[in-house]
Amino acid sequence: MKAAPFAYVRPGSLDGVLAELAGGDGKVLAGGQSLVPVLAMRLGRPATLVDINAVDGLDELARAGDAVRVGAGVRQRTLERSAQARAVPLIGMAMPFVGHRELRSRGTVCGSLAHADPAAELPAVAICLDATLEIAGPDGHRRVPAGEFVTGAMTTGVGPEEVLVAVEFPVAAPGSGYGFAEIARRHGDFALAGAVTRVSVDGDGTVAEARLTAFVVSDRPVTRDVTDSVRAAVDGTVPDLREATLREATAELAAEVVDTAGDAHGSTGYRRRLLGVLAARELLRAHRNATPDGTAS
Ligand SMILES: Cc1cc2nc3c(=O)[nH]c(=O)nc-3n(C[C@H](O)[C@H](O)[C@H](O)COP(=O)(O)OP(=O)(O)OC[C@H]3O[C@@H](n4cnc5c(N)ncnc54)[C@H](O)[C@@H]3O)c2cc1C
Repeated sequence: MKAAPFAYVRPGSLDGVLAELAGGDGKVLAGGQSLVPVLAMRLGRPATLVDINAVDGLDELARAGDAVRVGAGVRQRTLERSAQARAVPLIGMAMPFVGHRELRSRGTVCGSLAHADPAAELPAVAICLDATLEIAGPDGHRRVPAGEFVTGAMTTGVGPEEVLVAVEFPVAAPGSGYGFAEIARRHGDFALAGAVTRVSVDGDGTVAEARLTAFVVSDRPVTRDVTDSVRAAVDGTVPDLREATLREATAELAAEVVDTAGDAHGSTGYRRRLLGVLAARELLRAHRNATPDGTAS
């Protein structure tokens, strides 16, 4: 099938992009790795494609205080290979699972967030880390916490006349550790279940906070505070028994959060079992990396 006819524009400024999006019939084109298949399958018929690749300044990739700021033009592969990404360990852990290297060399970080596929890794990472997104529109710029950005499957807080300008990922604080895992039938495929984790410990090694973001298992990434469960599993439990202890809690949690329908690749029950196992493992990995002085993060 071929795409329905559309106009194509390539403004050189953000104001030009917003002018083209006014009226709401346009669609932003970033890396095109998701949008072009959508057009080719006629799942979308925008009147105008507004290509943002020539916009000045959108390729910004820099440390901004306690965050790494990634502009809407930055390719996934550029971020993956950047020195800045080392300050945000989850980027390095998750990025190799985002499709294949060739796709990542075109696909943008912000495009993945804006597309909001429930199986995508980067929205889950952004939500687990409490990243902040900057959106520009006719009324100016606004900042939105990642946890409020995705509102459903492939649906976000970016309005039809708006553009996502950048995302800011908080850098790792001392005492924080991270985990990431997903299970897919083949590397590069969309996964059957995935878990992103973040654990922080106090100066004496006590678990201060533990967080799990599950993805692929619902219409959007689902985050839960699991501090009590991780504390109970690691305090006073011999290391060999920690995973089994934590699995009881993560299995219960998986039964609650996994609501995606089963398909040819795996039933709902199978995805629940996967998530329960991945979550326990990755929470303990995050805990192991969360040394009070931050040396292992
Ligand atoms: C074979 C294949 C396998 C893939 N596997 C994976 C995978 O395993 N994991 C994964 O996460 N992704 C996967 N992807 C998707 C890939 O990561 C895309 O690059 C990404 O989802 C979209 O980024 P993009 O820059 O290409 O956006 P585009 O395709 O250009 O746009 C996607 C959507 O986001 C909107 N958009 C893009 N940028 C902005 C912006 N700045 N502001 C507002 N709206 C915007 C567009 O209007 C469009 O609706 C796969 C894609 C393919 C083709």
